[in-house]
Amino acid sequence: MKDCIFCKIIAGDIPNYTVYEDDHVLAFLDIHPRAKGHTVVIPKIHAENYFDLNEELLEHVARGVRKAMEKIEHVLSPDGYNVGWNQGEAGGQEVPHLHVHIFPRYEGDGGGNMHSIVNNTGDTSVEEFSKLFS
Ligand code: 5GP
Ligand code: ZN
Repeated sequence: MKDCIFCKIIAGDIPNYTVYEDDHVLAFLDIHPRAKGHTVVIPKIHAENYFDLNEELLEHVARGVRKAMEKIEHVLSPDGYNVGWNQGEAGGQEVPHLHVHIFPRYEGDGGGNMHSIVNNTGDTSVEEFSKLFS
């Protein structure tokens, strides 16, 4: 997409520090890292979010995340990982081209886990929510 910063990276118009690349995905170091080796993995076809990925792209992205993690594992040997993506404005997504964040984690790095992203369940019980899904 013309004005998409990540499409420009794929096109080579903006440089990147590549961690892993194949025909379908590019993984590169985040320019404002929140962890040592903070990497983002993007499909080479513009897709705004996870719902926009067809079955084939889903597989390519999943494989690309694993490949990038293997590379990070080999190079940095972190003690753990947090992996996920921000989706939509409410989810904190700023770049509208799906990117899976890989945060390598290290003992004593001071970070939290996924549960530290939000803690606001409102008044509805888990049981009430379960009725919506049945
Ligand atoms: P979001 O909040 O959309 O999930 O995160 C976007 C991420 O992309 C941010 O972590 C930001 O640092 C990263 N980013 C934005 N522009 C660039 C860029 O031009 N190069 C690289 N390597 N990362 C970028
Ligand atoms: Zn794009």
